[in-house]
Amino acid sequence: MSEREFDVIVIGAGPAGEVCAGRLGEAGQEVAIVESHLVGGECSFYACMPSKAMLRPGELLAEVRRIPGVREAATSDLDAGAVLSRRDQIIHDLDDSGMEPWLTKRGVAIVRAPGRLDGERRVRAGDDTLVARKAVVVATGSSPLIPPIDGLREAEPWTNREATTAKEVPARLAILGGGVVGVEMAQAYASLGSEVTLIERGDRLIAKEEPFASDHVEQSLRERGVDIRLGVSATAVRAEGREVTLALDQGGPARAEELLVAIGRRLNTDDIGLDTVGLEPGKPIAVDDSMRATDWLYAIGDVNGRALLTHMGKYQARIAADVILGQPSGCVASTADGSRSPRVIFTDPHVAAVGYTLAAAHQDGLDVRAFDVPTQGSAGASFYGRDDARGTARLVVDDKRGVIVGATFTGPEIAEFLHAATIAVVGEVQLDRLFHAVPAFPTRSELWLYLLEALGIAGPCGGPPRA
Ligand SMILES: Cc1cc2nc3c(=O)[nH]c(=O)nc-3n(C[C@H](O)[C@H](O)[C@H](O)COP(=O)(O)OP(=O)(O)OC[C@H]3O[C@@H](n4cnc5c(N)ncnc54)[C@H](O)[C@@H]3O)c2cc1C
Repeated sequence: MSEREFDVIVIGAGPAGEVCAGRLGEAGQEVAIVESHLVGGECSFYACMPSKAMLRPGELLAEVRRIPGVREAATSDLDAGAVLSRRDQIIHDLDDSGMEPWLTKRGVAIVRAPGRLDGERRVRAGDDTLVARKAVVVATGSSPLIPPIDGLREAEPWTNREATTAKEVPARLAILGGGVVGVEMAQAYASLGSEVTLIERGDRLIAKEEPFASDHVEQSLRERGVDIRLGVSATAVRAEGREVTLALDQGGPARAEELLVAIGRRLNTDDIGLDTVGLEPGKPIAVDDSMRATDWLYAIGDVNGRALLTHMGKYQARIAADVILGQPSGCVASTADGSRSPRVIFTDPHVAAVGYTLAAAHQDGLDVRAFDVPTQGSAGASFYGRDDARGTARLVVDDKRGVIVGATFTGPEIAEFLHAATIAVVGEVQLDRLFHAVPAFPTRSELWLYLLEALGIAGPCGGPPRA
């Protein structure tokens, strides 16, 4: 048992913890990062990276099949075994040794143990006590939520961990939950050959996004053969032999070899010693816009509940590090996280959104209007699947302030469109300036011209949005 001192101790080496520790280390701070499982966190091994590795081949094949000339070259279905081995390469066969050098090069000490707060500025890591001179940063992330459904736990369902690391594709997969993880995994497994049943309690998929995005994803999943049951809840689960049966409150039961639970996340705050510093375990760690929970305790990434997205965790990590390094917190405070953060759902079509949906803006009392154009309308779209690859681009515009407060795009491979919209929304670019932001020909970004026309500002003198 030893006691060691550092300037800063970070608990959890997911994307948020790593970025924070690395930034502090680079600035010359003595930093320890405590990790109980894999350096790289959920994102690198069981979430973002493997899920995208499993989605991309099917997406690519679908796009190839939409384009004459190359369609003829695609003569068979995906090679599921090859897709899964490529996925294994991307997640380094769950070996995180390749992730360590990024931290050690920055002078960060990696402590492999579960970490637990043990009073002010103190962290127990296995048998060791680590003491922080300046700050402790909690970045312990989140875990899958398992609802209290009769027989569910006993049936040993898949969570995102099993779904993203499976070595074989089940003949039938049932998925509980039609949020982001549910729809992405439904598409991935359908493209790899599973018969997928997707059960969602609400009346639409990805319910936080624009209704047209839900429709487009639903239609595309149905076209891939996914059996989507909306407005349906599972009431009991039984596992017998190799089969899982879900009793549903409407319609016949769903049967599958595997069941994936994808109904949401639980923040990892229940067993990290929050009670030893006067905070309540089991709740999100509430932080201010500089990520501070108290004058010495910071919480970044999923664990503070502000935005459960890797890029936003990393954004918060940079903010926390800079505040710890002595930047005035007012100048680096977060102004851009929360439910309006940029987000992408990597189905085919993609759904890429930033800022408000129309409904969320109305809920917040904003005086806004929505302007829609087809995503596939530009010359640049001719080289994509075009008519078979439809989508919608929507801007939500605050007329009074003359700025865009939200944007949603659906369409094939549309994720890269998002950042232009993020700059416009976060930068509060005045609409008439956008006339001068000329998209190159023939790129699909020319859809911005059509959006500006829809807004009635297709000329250099601008003008009010059309009624
Ligand atoms: C299937 C799936 C797909 C996703 N896809 C995307 C995507 O495409 N893009 C995106 O932006 N987001 C995506 N997300 C969300 C993203 O994975 C999370 O937002 C992100 O991983 C959060 O990062 P984090 O650093 O806060 O926590 P995590 O990545 O959860 O890392 C936390 C780390 O802390 C460690 N830890 C926990 N408790 C302790 C302890 N007591 N002591 C020591 N270590 C501890 C854990 O072992 C882990 O390594 C996806 C999520 C899922 C489930």
